[in-house]
Amino acid sequence: MIHEHRVLNPATEELVATVPATSAAEVSTAVARAAEAQRTWAALAPADRARLLRRFAVLVDDHGERLARLEVTEAGHTLGNARWEAANVRDLLDYAAGGVERLTGRQIPVPGGIDITFLEPLGVVGVIAPWNFPMPIAAWGVAPALAAGNAVLLKPAETTPLTAQYLARLALEAGLPEHLFQVLPGAGDVTGRALVEHPGVAKIVFTGSTRVGKEIMAGCADRVKRLTLELGGKSPNIVFADADIETAAATAPMSFLDNAGQDCCARTRILVQRSVYDRFLELLVPAVASVVVGDPSDEKTQMGPLISLAQLERVRGFVPDGADGIRGSAPTGPGFWFPPTVLTGVAPDAPVATEEVFGPVAVVLPFEDEEDAVRLADATEHGLAGSVWTRDVGRALRVSRAVRAGNLSVNSHSAVRYWTPFGGYKQSGLGRELGPDALAAFTETKNVFISAEA
Ligand code: NAD
Repeated sequence: MIHEHRVLNPATEELVATVPATSAAEVSTAVARAAEAQRTWAALAPADRARLLRRFAVLVDDHGERLARLEVTEAGHTLGNARWEAANVRDLLDYAAGGVERLTGRQIPVPGGIDITFLEPLGVVGVIAPWNFPMPIAAWGVAPALAAGNAVLLKPAETTPLTAQYLARLALEAGLPEHLFQVLPGAGDVTGRALVEHPGVAKIVFTGSTRVGKEIMAGCADRVKRLTLELGGKSPNIVFADADIETAAATAPMSFLDNAGQDCCARTRILVQRSVYDRFLELLVPAVASVVVGDPSDEKTQMGPLISLAQLERVRGFVPDGADGIRGSAPTGPGFWFPPTVLTGVAPDAPVATEEVFGPVAVVLPFEDEEDAVRLADATEHGLAGSVWTRDVGRALRVSRAVRAGNLSVNSHSAVRYWTPFGGYKQSGLGRELGPDALAAFTETKNVFISAEA
């Protein structure tokens, strides 16, 4: 059994920290303490809970640069991205704090009395986070769950526990009750599994691979435990001949190279209408070549390393030697580097065209017309995100509505914004996070009827 995790800097392979792993028995203790803290928290006036969460947000803002630097060191994120991520945690806390005093039920007309609904907190919520966006993805669950009156136990990924631990210290400093928000580093099949199986954990929020998501879903079924799943993606970037081809080609590289492609919304299937296919490829070559790959702590860097050797080997496994396509450059020497790669001439049903690679690898496939584009876009088990490039507003609407994915963007690659709901169709997930209903996902609706006749 693993008792500690070694955290490596993915750009240099240097040891950054060793972090003790949480055993199943320690998870039980954490659940009991969290349950007690949750009762204190839920009993506070909503305005006081909101104030404490805002104070937490202010501290995250004050410590933003340190959090960002820590993310660069443990996850290999570019400094620009990591700064955005720390600011995103601050914004998520502020947004959730704004919901505390607005978490209202309904009054429903019924005969013989009054009917009212309450949105009650669930109790203790388990958030199991991945390594690809350790801070924001943790906060997608933590912020609204706390705001809705719950306690949270966060299990970070083995490779990236440090920013999570830092955030928990800031929560305490802000004045949140002790044990209300605890970070439990550890292995997925020990610490994560213990959270899934513990009867005192009312809901699991999981982001990660579809394979583990299915296991967790099965584990939750036993207790009908509440569950939100954010799983993989294989998102299309659909470019029609009537689009602004120059902008579509210029923006395509970073739509799958951001975070070295370790992004569930990465637009890794570039579908281009056949009449502009050659022109698009011509424009894509310099666009890929211009992406700055290197030291993530350099402000000019656009793409850093992959998270680990295991991830590097997985990505290599998808790209056949000598495959046709476009390649950028990447550093050699220590670190888990893979160059930007766009493959052409790939069969639409090849694994690299249908499975989540989670690395800086995309394929370009031609299509004939609108119907063909939608068919190709939907030809995977995933349905998380997608982009549509066209100047025809009717086509933009038709295609966005037709593609079976949760988050579409037109003439842009935007996917995750904390104001709007986020989640997947098909095997990309279950439930929605973020947006105006984020807090409600951490509540049970209770209905109370009061007789006027007694
Ligand atoms: P993973 O699904 O194994 O890990 C995600 C989280 O789940 C981690 O915290 C891990 O410790 C935990 N976990 C693992 N097994 C568990 C179990 N049995 N019970 C409870 N928790 C468990 O992901 P990974 O191995 O780190 O990455 C593998 C692939 O998953 C990637 O290549 C990528 O395709 C995909 N992935 C997707 C996302 C996403 O945002 N959709 C994020 C990370 C990874």
